[in-house]
Amino acid sequence: MKGLIYEIQRYCVDDGPGIRTVVFLKGCPLRCPWCHNPESQDCRQEIGVYINRCINCMECYEACPRDAIVFNNGERIDREACDRCGLCVDVCPSRCLVRIGRHYEPDELLFEILKDLPFYKTSNGGVTFSGGEPIYQSEFLREALSLCKRKGIHTAVETSGYAPWEKFENIIEDADLFLYDLKIWDAKLHKEVTGGDNRIVKENFINLFLSLRDKSRIIPRIPLIPNWTLTKSNLEGWAKFLNELGCREVHLLPFHDMGESKKAVVGIETASLKRMALKERPKLRAYSTEYSYISEIFDTNGISVKGLREVSPT
Ligand code: SF4
Ligand code: SF4
Repeated sequence: MKGLIYEIQRYCVDDGPGIRTVVFLKGCPLRCPWCHNPESQDCRQEIGVYINRCINCMECYEACPRDAIVFNNGERIDREACDRCGLCVDVCPSRCLVRIGRHYEPDELLFEILKDLPFYKTSNGGVTFSGGEPIYQSEFLREALSLCKRKGIHTAVETSGYAPWEKFENIIEDADLFLYDLKIWDAKLHKEVTGGDNRIVKENFINLFLSLRDKSRIIPRIPLIPNWTLTKSNLEGWAKFLNELGCREVHLLPFHDMGESKKAVVGIETASLKRMALKERPKLRAYSTEYSYISEIFDTNGISVKGLREVSPT
């Protein structure tokens, strides 16, 4: 069984303990507007367009069998007409057009991971599977995790929690650490904003937390997004939820809008996230100088917080 991977990043330090290799799998059922990796969302290989590299040589136009090449400002492909055959990529001399996503056999991926083994050993690091939602490709993920475990490599999985519980059960033995994102507490708003049902996210978190004898194997993380997750009621909702469960640590992730520029590469209509972020900046700053406000919510619930100093966007 092959997995579709769009990036392997080496020497990472923010995705689990030590120095890590992060493997980004393609495909995610959620559509969060703040997504850092919009090129991960589509579950198939796709064509990326880096329009600034185009030298207008017309090679792609000649190569395309579907008349899908367009010369509009900022776009080179009519995404509805395109069937992703990649013939245009093969002839593009300037890497304006690139394939996003490559299929790997589990063994082939292990070979790539093993190249960084000395770094894992000296730093107590390992490999982190991210995405997209890595559990979307659960059979490949299970196989890859199992191969890593057999080599004694520490494994982590970054997840949105939005997957059938059986798929978590499938990997529970071979994943040493779950970095589990919690986003919007309110079910209606979660559905409106991300497209997914957050009861699944909550139920899976509960099941996973209760299944793991060593509770340090699961770390809840909340991205701090103005308006949506960075609100008093949202943080209070999650803090109470974690407290009732007996979870004593949360990581807060800083907001940034790096995903916005990548949306154009894969033809996703750019949301107004950047404009919204600018508009919200004073509020975000206010939060950053009021650490005690956010801390207090979690302190009251007996939960220690990591990552808060990074809230400031400046
Ligand atoms: S991927 Fe194939 S169909 Fe799509 S624009 Fe390129 S050549 Fe045309
Ligand atoms: S082949 Fe590449 S560089 Fe040439 S026109 Fe097409 S996108 Fe631009």
